[in-house]
Amino acid sequence: MPNKETTSAELYRLERAEEQQWAEGAQQTPTELLREQRERGFATLWFRPELEADFCRYLRLSGRLSRLTLLSIAFLAMAITPLIDTTLLGMPEPLVPLSRWLQLGGMIPLLLGVGLFCWKRPDAAAIELVMVLLFLGFIAGLLGQRIVDARYGFDLPVEFIGICTVTMFALARIRFWVMLPAAVVAGIAAIGVEIAFIHIEPNVNYHVFATVVLMVVAVCAGYSLEYFIRWTWLNGTLLHYLSRQDSLTGLLNRYALEDALEQAQAQAARESAGYAVAMIDIDAFGAYNDHYGHQEGDAALRRVAAVLRAGARRPLDVCGRYGGEEFAMLWMHGDADEIRALAENVCSAIAAERIPHAVSPVAEWVTVSIGVCHIGPDDGRVGLSAALRKADALLYEAKARGRNRVLCERFSSWPDDDG
Ligand code: GH3
Ligand code: MG
Ligand code: MG
Repeated sequence: MPNKETTSAELYRLERAEEQQWAEGAQQTPTELLREQRERGFATLWFRPELEADFCRYLRLSGRLSRLTLLSIAFLAMAITPLIDTTLLGMPEPLVPLSRWLQLGGMIPLLLGVGLFCWKRPDAAAIELVMVLLFLGFIAGLLGQRIVDARYGFDLPVEFIGICTVTMFALARIRFWVMLPAAVVAGIAAIGVEIAFIHIEPNVNYHVFATVVLMVVAVCAGYSLEYFIRWTWLNGTLLHYLSRQDSLTGLLNRYALEDALEQAQAQAARESAGYAVAMIDIDAFGAYNDHYGHQEGDAALRRVAAVLRAGARRPLDVCGRYGGEEFAMLWMHGDADEIRALAENVCSAIAAERIPHAVSPVAEWVTVSIGVCHIGPDDGRVGLSAALRKADALLYEAKARGRNRVLCERFSSWPDDDG
């Protein structure tokens, strides 16, 4: 799903792969899946598997800044503590070596390592495990120090453990169900240590109470934050798909089509590859509507769209509804003969559907005319509008020559009227 961490090329590849996946027989479209999930709810903080994987990826990528903020706060806390622990916090001198060892030898290098990992690999699936292990390591260090400190009568506030847990739920951007077991372990360990090892009365009861309160706050905040993130992701993703989909045919709509065509053109330029742009128009569709009615017309449009979608199966091909009964396609790679064969296949596949068209001047069934503009690898950079204009001119030439046919020409064989 889209987010700022992916470059536009990566995003484009991702989207194409998704569209391809759905086109190749997935049971439900993304829109249907998202709508169903919204109706079904997600109080358990779990989406169905087809959505969950995408959501997890989004959570990892979109949580990068938040995670780095958390690590920076922890780093600063570790760096400042040696400056204030003996003076402001009143830590006894004999405890200094242990504290320094834990802070400078243990936590700071660990934080730097995890920070580097989160910075460089925001998409790594292991990020949740790494954050949880860091948290547990932190808690173990704090509790160990608490036990030793107490022997010297120094009361290291155990509430730090509750604060760390709140911070993790608020900023680590890892899933609630992954964080919860770690929080429970930390809570039980903290309370256990207080009861078993710490004998600085009357503070024990207070520390246990405060830790329990902070843990409950952390868990509630973690749940509601993830619920909110899931809600916005679900709606945002649904809107993303709806804004790009033609509601009648399920193909890309005009806006998404132009976007995809431009991206595909840029990809072709990067690869120095040839490609072809096609304009496809249903023959005598006005008469079809007049004869069968608009409902039947819509059904015919859907069937034609399904055949077109099947004709643009390769990962970088594009197919969308240009408007009305007109569609546009882009076939990536392939020489002039291959492109012509692809277009001929589409034209005959639509005729082979045998959608009855009693009033067509061309055939007894629905047919299309196709204009194809082939851009070779050495044609240089060709503007999208120029390519579409040539494909459109060829389409009207195909109409003039009797319809139900393909006209395919190389872009460079046309006089340059682009200025
Ligand atoms: P030609 O062979 O020259 O392309 O003739 P045509 O009748 O297909 O072309 P024309 O542009 O005259 O008519 C296009 C028709 O397509 C007009 C309109 O009724 C129909 N149409 C456009 N969009 C839709 C739609 O969403 N649903 C239905 N049912 N019909 C549509
Ligand atoms: Mg038309
Ligand atoms: Mg038409």
